Amino acid sequence: MQYDCIIVGGGFAGLQAAIQLGRYRHKVAVIDAAEGRSTLCRSYHNLIGFPNGVSGAELLASGKKQAEQLGISFIKAFVVRAEREEAGLLLHTNDDRSYRGKRLLLATGVKDRLPNFPDLIPCLGISAYICPDCDGYEVADQQTLVLGAGNAGANMALTLTHWTTDLIYVNHERSPIDPDLRSLLADKGIPYIEQSIRTVHVDQAQFKGVILEDGTSLACGRCFVAFGGNEVRSGIAKQLGAELMDNKHIVVDPRTKRTSAEYVWAAGDVTAHSEMVTIAMGDGSQAAIWIHKSLIATSK
Ligand SMILES: Cc1cc2nc3c(=O)[nH]c(=O)nc-3n(C[C@H](O)[C@H](O)[C@H](O)COP(=O)(O)OP(=O)(O)OC[C@H]3O[C@@H](n4cnc5c(N)ncnc54)[C@H](O)[C@@H]3O)c2cc1C
Repeated sequence: MQYDCIIVGGGFAGLQAAIQLGRYRHKVAVIDAAEGRSTLCRSYHNLIGFPNGVSGAELLASGKKQAEQLGISFIKAFVVRAEREEAGLLLHTNDDRSYRGKRLLLATGVKDRLPNFPDLIPCLGISAYICPDCDGYEVADQQTLVLGAGNAGANMALTLTHWTTDLIYVNHERSPIDPDLRSLLADKGIPYIEQSIRTVHVDQAQFKGVILEDGTSLACGRCFVAFGGNEVRSGIAKQLGAELMDNKHIVVDPRTKRTSAEYVWAAGDVTAHSEMVTIAMGDGSQAAIWIHKSLIATSK
């Protein structure tokens, strides 16, 4: 069987595209490993309609239900390989199955490099944050720890001065920092600590602070995490010969979201843009419109 379109990734970009393609009544499968950013965030605060926040899990569940009502198939698997066929694309998953599609939408997102503190995970989006554009407002005028590594953490601390000056930067990995950034931290009065963190203190989803390796306790109700080195999940695009940027994001046409590889589109965080829910959804819709145009053009 050949689907009209296979979407790899069932986060917000993939789901929104699936809903739009379902409304065109195309035969669509979403292959999703269900371990993306959208599964991590416990509360999104910057979305219309949710002034008190909404969790990624809740938003995903309602989007999936909406897509299923439109006849979209969901396959829980990880796509490990893709190849081109004469009439479309063939995708291989980690459970040794294969799926054929006339068109392919890659909505595989970005994987954050997070420190190995499992207790911190329930705090994400509630009292621990990663994206200043999304959540800088949540720490406005509040004491905030930046837990990070090298330049990434330093840049995060400096960015957050737009909202709060009550910041401490803990360089947990003790990675080198450019001297210019060290000076800027000093100029802004941001204490800089080069020590690994022994324990993260959390109560329910509330971040409470950290204990450093020398036993120093830093009590604080908010933190930002900035380790750098996030993984842009563009491997399948690369296999199919699509053009990537130096930072590994997939290059797409701004209007159509089409990649440079035939029959392949991309949407959401895996393309180069501000990494946000609303933008991922918008990308997904836009890609779906142009996938539809392409499908009906070839069926005429
Ligand atoms: C802690 C945190 C807080 C955030 N807070 C905000 C916020 O407040 N506001 C905001 O707008 N944004 C926020 N974001 C960013 C937002 O979550 C992302 O911009 C959004 O999830 C991007 O959607 P996406 O569909 O592109 O990718 P994702 O949501 O990451 O979905 C990608 C999906 O693809 C799947 N996948 C990847 N590779 C494969 C493969 N090979 N085979 C099968 N499946 C695959 C993944 O498992 C995943 O389900 C936050 C992110 C994090 C991590």
